[in-house]
Amino acid sequence: MHIVLLGPPGSGKGTQGELLAKRTGLIRVATGDLLRAAVEQQTASGLEAKRYMDQGLLVPDDVMLGLLEEILSKPEAARGVIMDGFPRTIAQAEAVDRLLKARGRKVDHVLLFDVPDSELSRRIVGRQSMQGRSDDRREAFAKRLNVYREQTAPLVDFYRRRGILQTVDAVGPVEAIAERVRAEVGA
Ligand code: AMP
Repeated sequence: MHIVLLGPPGSGKGTQGELLAKRTGLIRVATGDLLRAAVEQQTASGLEAKRYMDQGLLVPDDVMLGLLEEILSKPEAARGVIMDGFPRTIAQAEAVDRLLKARGRKVDHVLLFDVPDSELSRRIVGRQSMQGRSDDRREAFAKRLNVYREQTAPLVDFYRRRGILQTVDAVGPVEAIAERVRAEVGA
């Protein structure tokens, strides 16, 4: 089962993705985590990605498409992947379709995490003070929200047209949201 977690920064995709991975035994892959690890290791693509990440911008699709291919061609991805933070553009969504199709798979569920903007900024202020992520600073966060609206939100229609978009009310206690997520995917 291939599940895409879609939603603005701070909507809880990471937390819920981990819980769902535990529940289903599927692997959760977060491109943000992979990119942060590459930055940490100072690999060439990590250093390139950092320039964009620090500004709250998306890492360009030409860098991301290679990473998506790597992720989806791993043997452990064959059973299914919980995709956290990708695809984030229409080009990436088309690449995911293509890569899965070549393996006889498809995206089965797209969960849209619905959280009001006021709640998002409240959560991010908390995350910045706890984790100190440079892209959670106020300016970069505002930028990430705009980037989400402009480049990622079009995926909502892209998947809705296909009839696989499911909206999850992502406000409330973590366990209550996890229950809604499980109900949507039948886990
Ligand atoms: P995240 O942890 O998902 O919020 O991602 C942190 C940052 O990593 C984003 O603001 C982007 O700069 C970059 N990033 C993560 N996933 C992607 C993606 N699929 N496409 C482009 N950039 C990404």
